[in-house]
Amino acid sequence: VPLRIIQEPDQLRSRPDVVVIGSGIVGLATAFFASREGLSVLIVEAMRSPTSLTSRRSGEGVRAQWELPHNIAIAQESIALYKHFGELVGDPANDAGYRPIGYLYASREPHAAAALKARVERQAKAGLEGIEYLEGAALHDKAPLLAADVIGAAFRGGDGVISIDRIIAGYKGAMDADLVLDTAVHAIKPDAGGVSIESSRGSISAGAVVVAAGAKSIGLFKGFAYAPVMKTAKSSIMRVKAEGIPIDHPTTIDVDIGSFWRPDEGGARITASFSGTLFVEDGVDDPAPEPGYLNHAMATVMPMTPRWKHWSEKLLDSHLRTGTFAVSEDGAPVIGPLPDAPNVYVNGGYSGHGVMMSPGGGRRLSKMLADGRHDPADPFSVERFHDGRKLVPEAMTIHLTDHPN
Ligand SMILES: Cc1cc2nc3c(=O)[nH]c(=O)nc-3n(C[C@H](O)[C@H](O)[C@H](O)COP(=O)(O)OP(=O)(O)OC[C@H]3O[C@@H](n4cnc5c(N)ncnc54)[C@H](O)[C@@H]3O)c2cc1C
Repeated sequence: VPLRIIQEPDQLRSRPDVVVIGSGIVGLATAFFASREGLSVLIVEAMRSPTSLTSRRSGEGVRAQWELPHNIAIAQESIALYKHFGELVGDPANDAGYRPIGYLYASREPHAAAALKARVERQAKAGLEGIEYLEGAALHDKAPLLAADVIGAAFRGGDGVISIDRIIAGYKGAMDADLVLDTAVHAIKPDAGGVSIESSRGSISAGAVVVAAGAKSIGLFKGFAYAPVMKTAKSSIMRVKAEGIPIDHPTTIDVDIGSFWRPDEGGARITASFSGTLFVEDGVDDPAPEPGYLNHAMATVMPMTPRWKHWSEKLLDSHLRTGTFAVSEDGAPVIGPLPDAPNVYVNGGYSGHGVMMSPGGGRRLSKMLADGRHDPADPFSVERFHDGRKLVPEAMTIHLTDHPN
């Protein structure tokens, strides 16, 4: 059953079990899994066109290389769902465009290489499958374009890239849900047995609401005493067109410099520097990119992959995409109800990793919606910000530190 676009909320046949605010990748994943639980779902989207903000600007990368076991688990689960996406959405023709090219975190410095090796050991113990530490000939055989002085790398072959367009199409084609566009929610009011959602097209009554509004989620929790603790950040990625970049080259992260590149159809995508991720006041759409980004991007990928000197001289095109998202206090997603408003749920705070974690997040949240139960001790719960437990920041969430390791 494909997603139905309705013109006005009052065209709804009945009061929905769940309203999902936002049609980004997180909102779509939530609505898809909730509809699979048999719930009636209405997605409310402020823009005239669905999924047109941050989710369209992502690097489309997926990795399960994380430090903390719960982040490893949700990413591994999500990548597995993408791997078998055709089955999930009941249409084998609609794969998620998953290509396991691998993620390679590499260094030219002995102390950083030793830290990568130690991290690989910790990750394997924490349940990360397929992680390996490479050095010497094994490393240079895996990635022959690496500079000769690269001494060690963490590598996981199952990490890679997906296609956001294919995923959006797959979810939309397979969810029994309604979507209303051009309708901005400005307030959420819990009421007896449900919620009342105040929108630019009037009030909508529902059994529960899921805030999946990306960077704009933070404003929707004003007035709730136990809101998730999140800040807004912006990040950029440069897309370049050039001939000869091998399409199966692993995503390469220079942990010494903090740069990242990965091959793309007809070129590559580059994040020049993770410290270029800045916290901003509000979730501005398309915030201004930094001038000189292209030169900076080229300068930061050449030391580890010297072939970039050659490619950079022959670039056919380049453009920068910038987007904003919500970063939680510990860098892990926030998935669950508000402690003081049990019918108001959060699916957000993915801290720059919403594409690679949202299938697992959508599935988990939908289960809570269907069962009406959640575990306040869960590491993704909203309770974690308020119950006095010590939060351990995810070291591999680049937005909490200046450095990706
Ligand atoms: C440059 C860049 C590179 C990235 N690379 C990756 C990557 O490689 N891998 C990865 O996993 N992640 C990556 N990310 C992060 C990823 O893009 C986000 O985590 C993800 O897109 C968040 O999805 P979302 O659905 O929460 O938000 P969004 O895509 O922003 O969607 C939110 C939706 O909610 C709507 N909305 C907001 N407020 C309201 C309201 N009041 N009423 C109704 N609707 C509302 C918006 O219009 C929007 O459509 C990257 C991000 C950037 C910027």
